Amino acid sequence: MVGMYFPRTLSRLLCIGLFTLLSPAGVTALCAQALTGHKTQNVIVVMIDGMRWQEVFRGADPSLLETLGSEMPGDAKQRAELAREKFSGSTPAERRQTLMPFLWSVVSSKGQLFGNRDLGSDSHVINGLNFSYPGYSETLTGVADPRVKSNDNVPNPNATVFEWLNTKPEFAGKIAAFGAWNVFDGIFRSKQSGLIVNAGYDAFTAIPPTPKLELLNTLKRETVRIWPDEAFDPIPFHTAIEYLEAQTPRVLFLGLGETDEWAHAGSYAEYLNAAHLADDYLRQIWELVQSMPEYRDKTTLIVLPDHGRGEGSKWTDHGEKVPESMQTWMAFLGPDTSASGERKQAEPVTASQIAGTVAALLGEDYRAAVPKAGAPITDVFGK
Ligand SMILES: [Zn+2]
Repeated sequence: MVGMYFPRTLSRLLCIGLFTLLSPAGVTALCAQALTGHKTQNVIVVMIDGMRWQEVFRGADPSLLETLGSEMPGDAKQRAELAREKFSGSTPAERRQTLMPFLWSVVSSKGQLFGNRDLGSDSHVINGLNFSYPGYSETLTGVADPRVKSNDNVPNPNATVFEWLNTKPEFAGKIAAFGAWNVFDGIFRSKQSGLIVNAGYDAFTAIPPTPKLELLNTLKRETVRIWPDEAFDPIPFHTAIEYLEAQTPRVLFLGLGETDEWAHAGSYAEYLNAAHLADDYLRQIWELVQSMPEYRDKTTLIVLPDHGRGEGSKWTDHGEKVPESMQTWMAFLGPDTSASGERKQAEPVTASQIAGTVAALLGEDYRAAVPKAGAPITDVFGK
């Protein structure tokens, strides 16, 4: 904790002094933190399924705003008109600000964003498959394992960084994952990892019920299901928020899925609505944690998708046969991340680096345990 209250140089001097005088094990742990200088005590990872870098950095595509989406229920024409009213703008800068106002105000001024290829910043997945389970697995385990090659809801062959952190006394029981997609049970291998995982339409019963959780569980049972394996995004979001307020976890995952589902359905209007809502969820999470003493100024938020999508009329699709769907983006906001904003001419970053980065932000060395994992992205810590 020394590093939180003293300037880093002072912490280092204090540590050297303590080592000289005492050098007990407790001081070693205390000083390891002070010497790395990290302020992050908690990490929240939010993943937005199949959200393209193109909309993140350029806003709504004017030509795609003209499309309707043939598989949409309801009045597709009216939806498209509403989306044009909401998300149009005369420049890419104006359109992205309209679509994702939190990313383009708070994160762009206080954090970092990677993946704008127009400015020479590349972010991508390395699994070669460019669909969900391999993307989440690469991100959360740090490794693109060729055994992970389907979206089947089966246990991950590898532990996630969440499971690894959960074996450490200081994190045990303080880690949880909430996701719209039921396959997060497999990705986090909930039956063997010991993590709290709540996915899809499953009732959340891991903590004592609150009125809000009871209502959320009722809605999961009773609302119409468009996709049998994926709940609407408000369900995991509000469940995760209720858990965060009640249990103050140190590491939290939230997986949102509507962006991908609406894109496959060909509805650009609903894809944009889902992206806009996801951005507002980021704002709500950030404002909530900054209002809580357990989190304020010691929490890092990481946001990214599990894969990209195609270009032009191929925007609905992704996978091995859509090579550009390997292209992604990443955003970081927290006390250890310098305010470099939108990165330009930056070193490429990959999803496989996120697991190591989550650990490093918390003062842990994931690669010592999993040498094949991608290296932490040092640009986002060590402010
Ligand atoms: Zn998909």
